[in-house]
Amino acid sequence: MSKLANPWKCDNPACGILRANDTNHWLIVAYLPAAPPTDIYARVSIQPWNDFCAEMFNAKHACGIDCGLKIAAQLIVENFYPHDLPAPSTGKEGSRGD
Ligand SMILES: [Zn+2]
Repeated sequence: MSKLANPWKCDNPACGILRANDTNHWLIVAYLPAAPPTDIYARVSIQPWNDFCAEMFNAKHACGIDCGLKIAAQLIVENFYPHDLPAPSTGKEGSRGD
C-alpha cells in the first residue's frame, strides 16, 4: 500500500498537514494526568510514532520535531499553567506587568 487508509493530521493548528506517508519523523504528544497510585505526577510525553498510541483519546499528532515541541508547549501551558494563557480578544501581546 502506498497510501495510508486513514491519514492522521498534524495537530499544530498552524500546520495541519496530513500524514500521507512515513517519511517524516511523526511524533505523538500527550498530556498524561496523574493517576495514583502508579502515576503520581502529571506530565506531557513525546514519543516516536506508533499506530497504537496514535489512537489514544488524548494523543496529539505532530508531523515533526518543530510541531511536536509547539504542541507540547501548548499542552504544558494549558495543563500546568492555565493562568498563563493569554486572555481571549484583548488584542495585547507580551504585556506582563511585574
Ligand atoms: Zn506539523
